Amino acid sequence: MVNGELLKIKLTVHHSQLAVKKMLSAEIIAIGSELLTPTKIDTNSLWLTEKLNETGIEVKLKTIVGDDELRLEETIKDALKRSDIVITTGGLGPTEDDITRKISAKALQKELIFREDVLAEIAEKFSRMNRKMPETNNRQAFIIEGAEILPNPNGSAVGMSIRIDEKFFIILPGPPRELQPMFETRVLPKLRENAGEIFVKRKILRVAGMGESALDELIAPIYKEYETVQTTILFNKSEIEIHLSAQGKTESEAENLLSDLADKIAEKVGIAVFSMNNETMEEVVGAILKETGKTLAVAESCTGGLIAQRLTEVSGSSAYFIEGVVAYANEAKIRTLNVSPELIEKHWNCGTDRRK
Ligand code: ATP
Repeated sequence: MVNGELLKIKLTVHHSQLAVKKMLSAEIIAIGSELLTPTKIDTNSLWLTEKLNETGIEVKLKTIVGDDELRLEETIKDALKRSDIVITTGGLGPTEDDITRKISAKALQKELIFREDVLAEIAEKFSRMNRKMPETNNRQAFIIEGAEILPNPNGSAVGMSIRIDEKFFIILPGPPRELQPMFETRVLPKLRENAGEIFVKRKILRVAGMGESALDELIAPIYKEYETVQTTILFNKSEIEIHLSAQGKTESEAENLLSDLADKIAEKVGIAVFSMNNETMEEVVGAILKETGKTLAVAESCTGGLIAQRLTEVSGSSAYFIEGVVAYANEAKIRTLNVSPELIEKHWNCGTDRRK
């Protein structure tokens, strides 16, 4: 899971009316029953979201639908009611359970048209591999009426792009090695034209030692002034991340907005902002140690070596990191670290286990 480390999405705090008006909205429908099981993860929609966001198109919704005709039809119809761009992935194979072609046509109330030229190309691909094309592949030569065909150099299933009034309905194959080049070469340029010249730039600030609510209270008056910057506060393990996403008519406009807001937030929050460019705590600590020519050793208890592990993950850390000790039991703290038993008695707080 790409965003798996973001444990809890706490607050999506601001999105200006202005930005909503300018930005095209997209939604993605990932099709395939295997995507509903723990064995197969829908990575296509994450990849597509990144590409769309970079283009200034906001992904508002993602759905995973199993190979269920009724539910897929409903999902496509609903998606087209609410989103400017609807993208499906998967379900374009030659077998009976590959329902995307048929159900998309049904949802759009359009015919499926058999295309000799598409079949000839599929047959040609098989013959290049010295294989006989199975009868079932005929299914892949049916195209929704009025659709533009998106060729697939890496597989047999062609994609489709259909314009419905002002909206785009785009059908892509499931395998990432087929979907990605098809999207980048055939779909993205067209979407870019329609998205207008909106540039999106992002920045992540990291904050330690504060809660989300306290942070939000402090910075809300600042970020609310920025209509074309979306600010999201996320709790990620022991830290808080402030995600800023700025839109501008030019790259430098987006860039300037972003650094302006980031600087104001950093000034207001002060030392708790330890990273302005998504660096981790251990990278920041490492950079300070290097700069000042200092070295570091750590003694850990409840963390079981985690601090040393994080510090040594940074490349070049041998220049400043000397050693780490994990003294877990109280007797180890007394023996190895020379901690006085009285001090331990006074302050022990590793859960309820008095040995630690
Ligand atoms: P094919 O013609 O290869 O059957 P297809 O368009 O029918 O392509 P599916 O049969 O739905 O695609 O999926 C084929 C394979 O593509 C899956 O087994 C999986 O490995 C990959 N795939 C499908 N959907 C996704 C997805 N949303 N994210 C990542 N991988 C996917």
